[in-house]
Amino acid sequence: MTKIILITLAILFIFVDLSLVTYKYLHKDSKKTVVHPIHKAKPNYKYSVFLTSDDGPLTGSKYLDQLIRDYEVPFTLFLVGKMVSTNRDLVPSLNRYRINKYALLGNHSFTHANAHYKRFYKNSDNVEKDFLQNNRYLKLDSNIARLPGRNVFAIDGLSKGDLNAKSAAIQIAHNHGYKFFGWDYELHHEQNGVIKQQSALYHYKKIKRLLKENKTFRKDQIIILMHDQMFTSITTQKTVGELILLLQNDTNIKLKKLDEYKI
Ligand SMILES: [Zn+2]
Repeated sequence: MTKIILITLAILFIFVDLSLVTYKYLHKDSKKTVVHPIHKAKPNYKYSVFLTSDDGPLTGSKYLDQLIRDYEVPFTLFLVGKMVSTNRDLVPSLNRYRINKYALLGNHSFTHANAHYKRFYKNSDNVEKDFLQNNRYLKLDSNIARLPGRNVFAIDGLSKGDLNAKSAAIQIAHNHGYKFFGWDYELHHEQNGVIKQQSALYHYKKIKRLLKENKTFRKDQIIILMHDQMFTSITTQKTVGELILLLQNDTNIKLKKLDEYKI
């Protein structure tokens, strides 16, 4: 009797073991494509490229966070506190960003002007309060900031952009030591997040041309604008991934976070 039980157990054990092997084999190829980040030695690089993304945390943020980790690529993320305060499902994405060593978190205002930019920028004091509220709410520890809805620079006495928005930025920079960054080139996207121009090579060539022709805010440095929501689209994830590889592969280019921007 004991013999029968032992044999049954042995057969059962072999069956379970085989099933596990088969499961592993079948699921081997369904794993997502492995990314091999490129880290070329660049002792004599000429250009600095700053990848940035706005409006997180949003539903696209978890994909962007993963992309940053997969490609081990420096990224500056401009965050909006109101998004998290109204949707607690976004808290995990925010927490992932916080512990992502390739990411630098910046201030993009608490309300994002509630999408009424003209009114928002009429009152610099309110803009200032909004940025301070965001800093308190998200507990940010950098002085890197970007205005919502306006491409404005205000860094160490140098500024550029829409007059009202610019004076708000200069006021906040002066009172609280912030540096406001606009952008030199945007990766536009459709409502559903799909990037408008599909080819990574197209963007890469554009970026190189702007740098070569000195058409950026500061020479030899270029800031690229993206939005977290773009990354809900697999096409966008793929295109941006390819663009990152092109940039990482270029020995003239170094990817950096905005705390390394030179004035
Ligand atoms: Zn924004």
